[in-house]
Parts: sequence; structure tokens; C-alpha cells
Amino acid sequence: MSTLTKQRCRLHGHREAVARCPECEKFFCRECVTEHDGRVICQPCLTELLQEDVKERSPIWGRIGGILGAGAGFMLAWWVFYMIGRVLLSIPSMFHDGTIFKH
Ligand SMILES: [Zn+2]
Ligand SMILES: [Zn+2]
Repeated sequence: MSTLTKQRCRLHGHREAVARCPECEKFFCRECVTEHDGRVICQPCLTELLQEDVKERSPIWGRIGGILGAGAGFMLAWWVFYMIGRVLLSIPSMFHDGTIFKH
């Protein structure tokens, strides 16, 4: 009944197709499809998808993300040290204001 049984693999004309690629909507045999991100897609589309993944993580975006990450880390570290410095500076003045160093 299924139209799938009448279909042949795009790459192996003699083999019956078992799956239809949701990306290119072509039919493929079991050997030509791979599960990727919960979907069964054909090898050519998988290769394309993986290349797109690489493109998405292009050096420019990676670099911007790295710079932002490093900048945020630096700012956080700077803020922490600044606050520690302020606390350390405030302690002696508290002693000065107190009775310990009274003139
Ligand atoms: Zn495909
Ligand atoms: Zn095949």
C-alpha cells in the first residue's frame, strides 16, 4: 500500500527506498540515510547540514563570541577585584574611625 515500497533509492537504483529525506524529499535506502538531530536524512543532506553547522560557527562569530566572553570575564574579574579592594580599603578607615587609633 505504501508508496515508499515502489520507490527506489536515489543513489542505488536497484534498492528499495526505506526512507524519504525531509530535506531534499528524495527517497533513499537504509544505507543512504542517517539519523541526525532526531531526523532521518540522506547522506548528501547530512554532509550539507554539517557544512552549514561549520559555517554557523564561522571564525568571525566565534571570534566575536570569544571577545565578548573574554570581555565579560575580564569585567567580572575587574569588578570582583575592585570590590575586594574597596572592602580592604574600607577596613583601615573603619579602624581609624573607631577607638583603636584614637589620638
Ligand atoms: Zn536529502
Ligand atoms: Zn542507497
